[in-house]
Amino acid sequence: MSAVLEVRGVTRRYQLEGSELQVLQPTDLVIEQGEMIAIVGPSGSGKSTLMHIIGLLDKPTAGEVVVDGQDTASFDQNQLSDLRNKRIGFVFQSFNLLAKTSALANVELPMVYAGIPRGERQRRAKAALERVGLGHRLRNTPAQLSGGQQQRVAIARALVNEPQVVLGDEPTGNLDSTSGVEVMTMLQELHAQGITVVLVTHDDRVARHAERVVRIADGRIVSDEAVQDRIFASHELERLMREKKEVAA
Ligand code: ADP
Ligand code: MG
Repeated sequence: MSAVLEVRGVTRRYQLEGSELQVLQPTDLVIEQGEMIAIVGPSGSGKSTLMHIIGLLDKPTAGEVVVDGQDTASFDQNQLSDLRNKRIGFVFQSFNLLAKTSALANVELPMVYAGIPRGERQRRAKAALERVGLGHRLRNTPAQLSGGQQQRVAIARALVNEPQVVLGDEPTGNLDSTSGVEVMTMLQELHAQGITVVLVTHDDRVARHAERVVRIADGRIVSDEAVQDRIFASHELERLMREKKEVAA
């Protein structure tokens, strides 16, 4: 296995009206290609801070973030967004879709930034929406879709540049339980297809859908363990992952 994401001695401090708040203590974490990992901890423990740093959305106060073998410490904003856009897909609790824009155009957006021509953008956006089961909802705006469908649009958007890694920050946090299962099914399917999935959650049950759980409290990693009693979002996935393991053994 090779590391796809690595943080070394990463910290994050905020300046607040003259005083300093250190929300992330020196942190080391290696995420291997093809893993499904959950970062779990209570509200305010620093999960989103860590995820934003891992995903190159925020710079650490100290330490290094290595993405696909490249140390990003000396990267400028353009280099960071370029690497992020190519390698990492994001899924957020609140979906972060453009409200007045169709599902298709929302999914095209990362490809606009990547400078991909219009025809190819539309073709790939359509394929990504079909992959998440929304081939019949291309022209609908977010308001015309259920929460679960909106999150599936966001997953399609995260996939459209064929990232190595998908990062999800409380991706089921705004969903009812049925839609939550839908979204966890998608994430486990992506993992089964070889994509590295990093999931941030306050919910132990959601975390147990991963293979490995990193627990964070007060801005530091307090445990890092393989999941013994993994939850599968569907029987089909359970069977698929069993077979994979048997082939590997
Ligand atoms: P979690 O995602 O685990 O709920 P966060 O990473 O969002 O936690 O926040 C960790 C801590 O950092 C919290 O105490 C939060 O108030 C603080 N924090 C987050 N963002 C900022 C910011 N921009 N300025 C100051 N403090 C922040
Ligand atoms: Mg958070």
